[in-house]
Amino acid sequence: MAKDSPRTTKTSRVASNPSVSIWAAQCGKCYKWRKISTQEEFEEIRSKFNEEPFHCENKPNGSCDDPADIEYDSSHTWAIDKPNQPKTPTGFKRELYLRSDYSKMDAYYITPSGKKLRSTNEVAAFLQQNPEYSDLSTSNFSFKSPKIMDDTIPSSSTK
Ligand SMILES: [Zn+2]
Repeated sequence: MAKDSPRTTKTSRVASNPSVSIWAAQCGKCYKWRKISTQEEFEEIRSKFNEEPFHCENKPNGSCDDPADIEYDSSHTWAIDKPNQPKTPTGFKRELYLRSDYSKMDAYYITPSGKKLRSTNEVAAFLQQNPEYSDLSTSNFSFKSPKIMDDTIPSSSTK
């Protein structure tokens, strides 16, 4: 059980830089944290989170009676994601990098050809130059990064 008031948004937990080591979602009924096995699955949950809150039963054999998969505490650094962000388009990869001072995470997209896109402007330019992705628009990409939870930043890290 989280020590803070229950959160209704999903979370990614960050163990090391770069990228996220564990994806997790909080049950809207019992407030326990459930591990989500893949980023794809996490993004699926996140993309419709406001309409379909996550519940333990969404996982195979899941139940609110089971102990939490992980606890929200300072043994790892947590970052809380914003709900209802678009799923990463097929073939693209979304990466999150935690800054070494724990100040924030940066979101990037890697295109199928391996190009790194750092902003909506870069996405717009890429889509313009690559008409094969004409079914995509900048709204399929989100550079909103999850919020680092101050109370889970290692105390050895001083800003
Ligand atoms: Zn539950």
